Amino acid sequence: MNSPLSWNRLPRVSPDAVYRLTQRSADIPLHLPRPLLAYGNGRSYGDVCLTEQGTLLLTRGLDRFISFDEQNGILRCEAGITLQEILELIVPRGWFLPVTPGTRMSTVGGAVSNDVHGKNHHTSGTFCHHVRCLELWRSDGSIIECGPEKHQQWFEATVGGLGLTGLIRWVEFGLIPIENPWMWVESRRFANLDEFWTLNHQLESRWPYTVAWIDCLASGNARGRGLILAADHAAARNELPKFKERRRRVPIDPPFSLVNRVSLRALNGLYYRQPIKPQGGLTHYAPYFYPLDTIQDWNRIYGRQGFYQYQCVIPPREAEAATAALLETIGRRGEGSFLAVLKTFGNKSSLGMLSFPRAGTTLALDFPNRGDKTLRLFEELDAIVREAGGALYPGKDARMPASLFQSGFPQWEAFSKYVDPNFSSEFWRRVTS
Ligand SMILES: Cc1cc2nc3c(=O)[nH]c(=O)nc-3n(C[C@H](O)[C@H](O)[C@H](O)COP(=O)(O)OP(=O)(O)OC[C@H]3O[C@@H](n4cnc5c(N)ncnc54)[C@H](O)[C@@H]3O)c2cc1C
Repeated sequence: MNSPLSWNRLPRVSPDAVYRLTQRSADIPLHLPRPLLAYGNGRSYGDVCLTEQGTLLLTRGLDRFISFDEQNGILRCEAGITLQEILELIVPRGWFLPVTPGTRMSTVGGAVSNDVHGKNHHTSGTFCHHVRCLELWRSDGSIIECGPEKHQQWFEATVGGLGLTGLIRWVEFGLIPIENPWMWVESRRFANLDEFWTLNHQLESRWPYTVAWIDCLASGNARGRGLILAADHAAARNELPKFKERRRRVPIDPPFSLVNRVSLRALNGLYYRQPIKPQGGLTHYAPYFYPLDTIQDWNRIYGRQGFYQYQCVIPPREAEAATAALLETIGRRGEGSFLAVLKTFGNKSSLGMLSFPRAGTTLALDFPNRGDKTLRLFEELDAIVREAGGALYPGKDARMPASLFQSGFPQWEAFSKYVDPNFSSEFWRRVTS
């Protein structure tokens, strides 16, 4: 078996062993090399799900539904189930995930451990705001059932805890009711960052879901131009369109990145000029929430060197100036991805000691790995984030310096008391050494 990778395909590290979990209550053999680390579906970018020493515990075999209260929308399932498998069960029964990241290929254990956020952060917080309880296995054999009101410290350490407090075996969380699988989506164009702030403010007060895609290469008066998609679950109606998802696949690993300055300019420009729907229209939930999932293995377009994602959050007071500075730096270097994501987080405080979401603005974009050149750009971006009092998302990181992690997550030392002594990751060793 090839060593498991994370989504951006770097770093490439081989653990001493991998062990497939199939029964949630089965013992984990004592002879496995330590440290241990759970690996869900490898949809994080970077090294939170990787360890070169020790054993990766593959959780996808923990894929059973345990209970489903269809009246009240409460689901308990094993931690290796993907969000896609959950949607297949719940959507036909009139329920939806309370919060979802931009891929439905994440497992529930991964969603909890990175305390993932979605397009509705400003109204619904993070995934873990909806978790009622979970079961944690510790390497000393103890089992802790915790939640917001039960063993609360363990809960606060484990949600957003990057898999370091032990193995999550099952999770119980609340769902939200829907009338049908469709979204009502209003799309609007903004000509630059100033227009974004105004439009985003207006739309967030009216819509539960908002997200903006921006052209990171546009400069001058057009810096930060893009499209914003605001949405809600569609109301009940007698007739609905038919929907069939078309899936495509990137079949090969190109020897070099297909994403470069020329392809980026062309694709970003095309995307920006596409027809919009200011009056709104119906879109199935799959293309609205998961546009990238329809292209299987899209991460291959960056070639064998892999890529980085840079996702930061900037506190509200500094957000406008720092976002402009970040885009100016990225644009000047001609780097960046097809479509950068810009979103404001609401004021709901995250529950996890190491949760990334917090009030402010988050910018996320991918960069082909061009070695030192890319790393030097990140140093410039880090300086802007640090100066603004922001933080980088551990679930999307393969290189942040320890000092930036420690300033962005001031509870990290208090958190480290809850780390299972037999669990660790490349990420954790990197940011605490
Ligand atoms: C296209 C795309 C879009 C994305 N959009 C978003 C987004 O909008 N918002 C967002 O927040 N994230 C987003 N992500 C990131 C992704 O949702 C998270 O990284 C998620 O945690 C991945 O889940 P996974 O099951 O693949 O976990 P992995 O990547 O395998 O692991 C992630 C972490 O969870 C831990 N873990 C996994 N299972 C367990 C378990 N059972 N017990 C203990 N620890 C465990 C691992 O040790 C690791 O620390 C996106 C990723 C992609 C590829």
